[in-house]
Amino acid sequence: MPVNQSDYIKDVVFAFKKLPGIGERSARRLAFYILSQNESVAYHFANTIKDAKQNIKLCKHCFNLSGEELCPICKNSSRNSKLLCVVENPEIIYVFEKSGNFNGFYHVLHGLINPLEGITPSDIKIKELVGRVEGGGFEEIILALNPNSNGEATMVYIQKILSSYDVHITALARGIPVGSDLEYIDKDTLSEAINYRKNFG
Ligand SMILES: [Zn+2]
Repeated sequence: MPVNQSDYIKDVVFAFKKLPGIGERSARRLAFYILSQNESVAYHFANTIKDAKQNIKLCKHCFNLSGEELCPICKNSSRNSKLLCVVENPEIIYVFEKSGNFNGFYHVLHGLINPLEGITPSDIKIKELVGRVEGGGFEEIILALNPNSNGEATMVYIQKILSSYDVHITALARGIPVGSDLEYIDKDTLSEAINYRKNFG
């Protein structure tokens, strides 16, 4: 049976719906928007993603997205080679770099251990992390993973597996996001903030 036009639209809606944070309604809005634009806009959109995907690979050191074998961060010899920050995905590197507070190197796991979805340590870049630590040079490994159950499970696992190496393992302090009101903070965040309180002043 030939594919009619509405099936084409359905396919585009479906493609948008697969993106994180996009529900049915947003997907429909985006699909109708892009399909209502002239050809150059729609093709530019599609080709930009295609070109990037064809040319971007994973940095062979840190597994960040990179246009070359090594990403610009790994190529930068002025960074602190004693610090290694472990993150879930390349987007977190972007956030850290934007904050401008971190001058060490990164290691992207590309996921978290997730027993419910069957994601085990061998499915993410933990073996490669151990390899880098084994290679020597790093003094501190900072586990910068989200404090949810999968993040916690992954941090506990990494801590255990790296315990035999001569590295200091730290995690991000948990607490109240800068600029937020205590009144509106959720109770889990607040109890974490209390449990991990530090001296004032
Ligand atoms: Zn890199």
